[in-house]
Amino acid sequence: MNACPWCGNDATGRDLIPRALTRVRRLLLVSRIRDWDYRVLLRPGISGVDPRYPKIVEIEQRYVVGKQRRDEISWTMLVGLITHELGHSFLYHHWEWTKHKRFVRAFGEVDKAYRGMDNSWVYFQNRRVAIAPRDHVTAYAAKHPQEDFAETFRFYVTRRGRLRDLFAEFGQKRKGVILYEKFLVLHDFVRALRGWT
Ligand SMILES: [Zn+2]
Repeated sequence: MNACPWCGNDATGRDLIPRALTRVRRLLLVSRIRDWDYRVLLRPGISGVDPRYPKIVEIEQRYVVGKQRRDEISWTMLVGLITHELGHSFLYHHWEWTKHKRFVRAFGEVDKAYRGMDNSWVYFQNRRVAIAPRDHVTAYAAKHPQEDFAETFRFYVTRRGRLRDLFAEFGQKRKGVILYEKFLVLHDFVRALRGWT
Protein backbone atom coordinates (compact mmCIF):
# COMPACT_ATOMS: atom_id res chain seq x y z
CA MET A 1 0.00 0.00 0.00
CA ASN A 2 1.32 3.42 -0.96
CA ALA A 3 0.12 5.75 1.78
CA CYS A 4 1.35 9.31 1.93
CA PRO A 5 3.27 9.77 5.21
CA TRP A 6 1.95 13.33 5.58
CA CYS A 7 -1.72 13.07 4.87
CA GLY A 8 -2.29 9.33 5.12
CA ASN A 9 -4.11 9.25 1.80
CA ASP A 10 -3.24 7.24 -1.27
CA ALA A 11 -0.12 8.92 -2.61
CA THR A 12 -0.09 7.14 -5.95
CA GLY A 13 -2.89 9.23 -7.32
CA ARG A 14 -4.69 6.13 -8.53
CA ASP A 15 -7.76 7.12 -6.58
CA LEU A 16 -8.11 10.04 -8.99
CA ILE A 17 -9.15 7.77 -11.83
CA PRO A 18 -12.29 6.28 -10.26
CA ARG A 19 -13.30 9.74 -9.06
CA ALA A 20 -12.74 11.30 -12.46
CA LEU A 21 -14.62 8.43 -14.09
CA THR A 22 -17.57 8.89 -11.78
CA ARG A 23 -17.66 12.54 -12.82
CA VAL A 24 -17.39 11.69 -16.52
CA ARG A 25 -20.14 9.04 -16.30
CA ARG A 26 -22.37 11.57 -14.61
CA LEU A 27 -21.66 14.11 -17.37
CA LEU A 28 -22.45 11.53 -20.07
CA LEU A 29 -25.69 10.72 -18.31
CA VAL A 30 -26.88 14.32 -18.07
CA SER A 31 -25.80 14.86 -21.70
CA ARG A 32 -28.08 11.88 -22.43
CA ILE A 33 -25.42 9.95 -24.36
CA ARG A 34 -26.17 6.27 -24.39
CA ASP A 35 -23.49 4.06 -22.87
CA TRP A 36 -21.50 2.20 -25.56
CA ASP A 37 -19.78 -0.08 -23.07
CA TYR A 38 -16.45 1.72 -23.06
CA ARG A 39 -13.65 0.84 -20.62
CA VAL A 40 -10.98 3.18 -19.29
CA LEU A 41 -7.59 1.66 -18.48
CA LEU A 42 -4.47 3.13 -16.95
CA ARG A 43 -1.41 2.26 -19.06
CA PRO A 44 2.18 3.31 -19.51
CA GLY A 45 2.80 4.96 -22.88
CA ILE A 46 0.42 7.44 -24.41
CA SER A 47 -3.25 8.18 -23.97
CA GLY A 48 -5.54 7.18 -26.79
CA VAL A 49 -7.88 4.71 -28.43
CA ASP A 50 -6.82 2.01 -30.87
CA PRO A 51 -9.39 1.91 -33.71
CA ARG A 52 -9.22 -1.90 -33.60
CA TYR A 53 -10.50 -1.80 -30.02
CA PRO A 54 -12.88 1.17 -30.06
CA LYS A 55 -14.30 0.57 -26.60
CA ILE A 56 -10.95 0.64 -24.80
CA VAL A 57 -9.73 4.07 -23.73
CA GLU A 58 -6.15 4.13 -22.47
CA ILE A 59 -4.95 6.87 -20.18
CA GLU A 60 -1.23 7.44 -19.70
CA GLN A 61 -0.54 6.42 -16.12
CA ARG A 62 2.18 9.00 -15.48
CA TYR A 63 -0.55 11.66 -15.48
CA VAL A 64 -2.06 10.17 -12.37
CA VAL A 65 0.77 8.49 -10.53
CA GLY A 66 3.69 10.26 -8.86
CA LYS A 67 1.88 13.44 -7.88
CA GLN A 68 5.09 15.27 -6.97
CA ARG A 69 6.42 15.16 -10.50
CA ARG A 70 6.28 17.94 -13.03
CA ASP A 71 3.91 16.04 -15.26
CA GLU A 72 1.28 16.01 -12.56
CA ILE A 73 -2.14 16.41 -14.06
CA SER A 74 -4.89 18.56 -12.65
CA TRP A 75 -8.38 17.33 -11.91
CA THR A 76 -9.96 19.43 -14.69
CA MET A 77 -7.37 18.16 -17.12
CA LEU A 78 -8.00 14.55 -16.17
CA VAL A 79 -11.75 14.89 -16.68
CA GLY A 80 -11.06 16.76 -19.95
CA LEU A 81 -8.56 14.18 -21.14
CA ILE A 82 -10.88 11.23 -20.42
CA THR A 83 -13.80 12.99 -22.12
CA HIS A 84 -11.67 13.83 -25.17
CA GLU A 85 -10.45 10.23 -25.47
CA LEU A 86 -14.02 8.98 -25.01
CA GLY A 87 -14.88 11.16 -28.02
CA HIS A 88 -12.42 9.09 -30.10
CA SER A 89 -13.90 5.88 -28.69
CA PHE A 90 -17.46 7.02 -29.45
CA LEU A 91 -16.49 7.90 -33.03
CA TYR A 92 -14.68 4.62 -33.71
CA HIS A 93 -17.63 2.77 -32.25
CA HIS A 94 -20.02 4.60 -34.61
CA TRP A 95 -17.61 4.76 -37.56
CA GLU A 96 -20.34 4.29 -40.20
CA TRP A 97 -21.69 7.65 -39.17
CA THR A 98 -18.49 9.36 -40.41
CA LYS A 99 -19.52 8.43 -43.98
CA HIS A 100 -22.81 10.33 -43.79
CA LYS A 101 -22.94 13.49 -45.91
CA ARG A 102 -23.93 15.74 -43.05
CA PHE A 103 -21.09 14.47 -40.88
CA VAL A 104 -18.53 14.94 -43.68
CA ARG A 105 -19.78 18.47 -44.44
CA ALA A 106 -19.33 19.44 -40.78
CA PHE A 107 -16.13 17.62 -39.81
CA GLY A 108 -14.47 16.68 -43.11
CA GLU A 109 -12.74 13.43 -43.99
CA VAL A 110 -11.80 11.60 -40.82
CA ASP A 111 -9.58 9.17 -42.76
CA LYS A 112 -7.17 11.95 -43.63
CA ALA A 113 -3.56 11.14 -42.62
CA TYR A 114 -2.31 12.40 -39.28
CA ARG A 115 0.87 14.42 -39.39
CA GLY A 116 2.90 16.42 -36.94
CA MET A 117 0.76 15.55 -33.93
CA ASP A 118 2.24 16.21 -30.55
CA ASN A 119 1.09 14.81 -27.25
CA SER A 120 -1.11 17.77 -26.51
CA TRP A 121 -3.06 16.69 -23.47
CA VAL A 122 -2.25 20.03 -21.81
CA TYR A 123 -4.98 21.59 -23.93
CA PHE A 124 -7.73 19.45 -22.52
CA GLN A 125 -8.07 21.35 -19.29
CA ASN A 126 -9.40 24.37 -21.14
CA ARG A 127 -13.14 24.58 -20.68
CA ARG A 128 -13.58 27.84 -22.55
CA VAL A 129 -14.26 28.15 -26.24
CA ALA A 130 -11.28 29.59 -28.08
CA ILE A 131 -11.78 32.79 -30.09
CA ALA A 132 -9.51 31.51 -32.87
CA PRO A 133 -9.74 29.52 -35.05
CA ARG A 134 -13.19 30.67 -36.06
CA ASP A 135 -14.57 27.31 -37.22
CA HIS A 136 -13.25 25.12 -34.39
CA VAL A 137 -14.09 24.96 -30.71
CA THR A 138 -10.38 24.98 -29.72
CA ALA A 139 -7.06 25.41 -31.51
CA TYR A 140 -6.35 21.73 -30.97
CA ALA A 141 -9.57 20.81 -32.80
CA ALA A 142 -8.14 22.34 -35.99
CA LYS A 143 -5.32 19.77 -36.13
CA HIS A 144 -7.31 16.92 -37.64
CA PRO A 145 -11.01 16.05 -38.28
CA GLN A 146 -10.82 13.27 -35.65
CA GLU A 147 -9.44 15.73 -33.10
CA ASP A 148 -12.13 18.18 -34.15
CA PHE A 149 -14.75 15.58 -33.31
CA ALA A 150 -13.09 14.59 -30.01
CA GLU A 151 -12.95 18.25 -28.92
CA THR A 152 -16.56 18.85 -30.01
CA PHE A 153 -17.53 15.78 -28.00
CA ARG A 154 -15.54 17.01 -24.97
CA PHE A 155 -17.33 20.37 -24.99
CA TYR A 156 -20.71 18.79 -25.64
CA VAL A 157 -20.29 16.48 -22.64
CA THR A 158 -18.57 18.84 -20.18
CA ARG A 159 -21.26 21.46 -20.96
CA ARG A 160 -23.91 18.79 -20.29
CA GLY A 161 -25.35 18.92 -23.81
CA ARG A 162 -26.71 22.43 -23.19
CA LEU A 163 -26.42 23.88 -26.66
CA ARG A 164 -28.20 27.11 -25.85
CA ASP A 165 -25.46 28.24 -23.42
CA LEU A 166 -22.72 27.04 -25.71
CA PHE A 167 -24.20 28.81 -28.75
CA ALA A 168 -24.52 32.05 -26.78
CA GLU A 169 -20.79 31.83 -26.12
CA PHE A 170 -20.15 31.13 -29.83
CA GLY A 171 -22.12 34.27 -30.64
CA GLN A 172 -20.05 36.41 -28.30
CA LYS A 173 -16.87 35.00 -29.78
CA ARG A 174 -18.10 35.36 -33.38
CA LYS A 175 -17.57 31.72 -34.22
CA GLY A 176 -18.36 30.43 -37.71
CA VAL A 177 -21.71 28.87 -38.67
CA ILE A 178 -20.04 25.52 -39.32
CA LEU A 179 -19.12 25.22 -35.63
CA TYR A 180 -22.80 25.36 -34.61
CA GLU A 181 -23.49 22.70 -37.23
CA LYS A 182 -20.83 20.37 -35.75
CA PHE A 183 -22.59 20.47 -32.39
CA LEU A 184 -26.01 20.04 -34.02
CA VAL A 185 -24.77 17.01 -35.99
CA LEU A 186 -23.59 15.44 -32.74
CA HIS A 187 -26.74 16.47 -30.86
CA ASP A 188 -29.04 14.97 -33.50
CA PHE A 189 -27.00 11.77 -33.58
CA VAL A 190 -27.16 11.45 -29.78
CA ARG A 191 -30.94 11.93 -29.98
CA ALA A 192 -31.21 9.38 -32.80
CA LEU A 193 -29.34 6.83 -30.68
CA ARG A 194 -32.00 7.25 -28.03
CA GLY A 195 -34.64 6.58 -30.66
CA TRP A 196 -35.92 10.11 -31.10
CA THR A 197 -35.55 10.21 -34.87
ZN1 LIG B 1 -7.36 13.22 -29.57
